[in-house]
Amino acid sequence: MMAHTFPAATGFLVSAQQGGDRAPGPVFATRGAHEAVAEALRTQTLNAVLVHSGSAENAVARSGDTALVLAGELYNREDLFTLLPAGADARTDAQLLLALLDVYDLHAFRLLNGRFAAAVALGDRVLLATDHAGSVPLYTLPAPGRVLAATEIKALVPATAKAPPSGRPVAEARRVRRVPGVHQVPAGTVLDIDVRTGTAVPTRIWTPPVSRRILPEADATAVVRETLARAVRARTGGSTPLVVLSGGIDSSGVAALAAAHTHGPLDTLSMGTDTSDEFPEARVVATHLGSAHREITVPTADLLGQLPYAIWASESVDADIIEYLLPLTALYRALDGPARRILTGYGADIPLAGMHREDRLPQLDTAVAFDMATFDGLNEMSPVLSGIQGHWSTHPYWDRDVLDLLVSLEAGLKRRHGRDKWVLREAMSALLPRETVTRPKLGVHEGSGTTSSFSLLLSDAGVPDADIHRAKSLVVREIFDRVVVEGLPPAEVSTADAVHQAAARLKETE
Ligand code: ATP
Ligand code: MG
Repeated sequence: MMAHTFPAATGFLVSAQQGGDRAPGPVFATRGAHEAVAEALRTQTLNAVLVHSGSAENAVARSGDTALVLAGELYNREDLFTLLPAGADARTDAQLLLALLDVYDLHAFRLLNGRFAAAVALGDRVLLATDHAGSVPLYTLPAPGRVLAATEIKALVPATAKAPPSGRPVAEARRVRRVPGVHQVPAGTVLDIDVRTGTAVPTRIWTPPVSRRILPEADATAVVRETLARAVRARTGGSTPLVVLSGGIDSSGVAALAAAHTHGPLDTLSMGTDTSDEFPEARVVATHLGSAHREITVPTADLLGQLPYAIWASESVDADIIEYLLPLTALYRALDGPARRILTGYGADIPLAGMHREDRLPQLDTAVAFDMATFDGLNEMSPVLSGIQGHWSTHPYWDRDVLDLLVSLEAGLKRRHGRDKWVLREAMSALLPRETVTRPKLGVHEGSGTTSSFSLLLSDAGVPDADIHRAKSLVVREIFDRVVVEGLPPAEVSTADAVHQAAARLKETE
């Protein structure tokens, strides 16, 4: 398969219908050109608007009575290719998926390792699917005769104003706050929708492992290194990738593996604020790898002012998640110039329980099981975060094979010899300086001072310490209602106003 710099499409809005209506006008935070597509099948028409950066036709595939659109990309193309009859036309990821659907029907999605959302019109069915992790969020408004779906909530909001009550309930799917009828397609799930009735039947195509593997130390570190190296290589693309680098073990590991597959120096980028940064630690890694390294400092006031952008992009209402995503949003927005393929170390802590600073193995495994059961709908890995600046981000630790492996390792390999994320540190030890390998975890929300600055903003507005967390949730919901539900541009929404409203609301309820 071709080496690619960018996926053919990074988002879509589709309308699959029996009648001749056109799709609603597109509204996306993701930056890119828009391409309208119409495929008339026997009983339905698939209208779509794709967000793309030059090769939208590669995101669409059609054969007989089946048409599909794909946002994102596949990472196990070579393996998938072996399943097809010789001579099958599968030049693009969309064509590959179409060919697999012909052989396996919706079970094709069980085979994919990717970062994508897909919409398929097939006879009188509409299949809506996410990758195993739901890493490209997908939303739907199914109604009798017409199924709408989009990679951003805000693209579906105009349709709810016209026909609010017609949306069908969707089994097992989460409703979207204040947007009636719109549901999020669950992670690792295909919704099989009858376009005539709007009835959706979910099929799980991935679940996190619940059992644990026992491996000798050396075998565990070798398999982690090999699996992660494969995931990084599959994501590196045709040109020099950019690694967002904190100098923590997660991003340093990705950078070390990416450097091994890149001709010439790798690009690395670190972000800090006037309150806090990890610049010295990141520089150690950049120097060791010989990367072309850049540092960006964002003033703390600007950082907090970008809260509406983080929520507009991620469409998440979880205040803790927004604290992780805010510094990354600021980093991506500051990254001007040509669109880049970005690799991040995000997400390693979830299967390895790195955030829990926990020595006791039962608690550690409880944390892994809990986090793997509750990540869905948080949109932590949404590509829209970097997509608002035209970039494409990808997360090797949430590669399907890497995630399956890391989750399933017995807890004593994750916490060992007094170290968190031991198996990962040990796997990377030959590629990185000793001080990087042994450096304690520091979350992106801590290293950038985001959590403390956001707390301070609320204290200054008169919120008592005990209410800070609740106040953060109120702020995030308030901003979500403006930028997602009401569709206001983030530049017109003020963090300060939301903070004052939250403070006032908390006073009222005292
Ligand atoms: P560790 O978990 O050991 O601290 P890490 O810093 O790489 O490793 P996180 O703290 O979980 O991982 O941060 C998530 C990801 O966000 C990082 O892997 C990195 O890609 C990105 N990131 C975090 N902080 C920064 C930063 N200051 N500058 C650039 N990228 C960052
Ligand atoms: Mg860190």
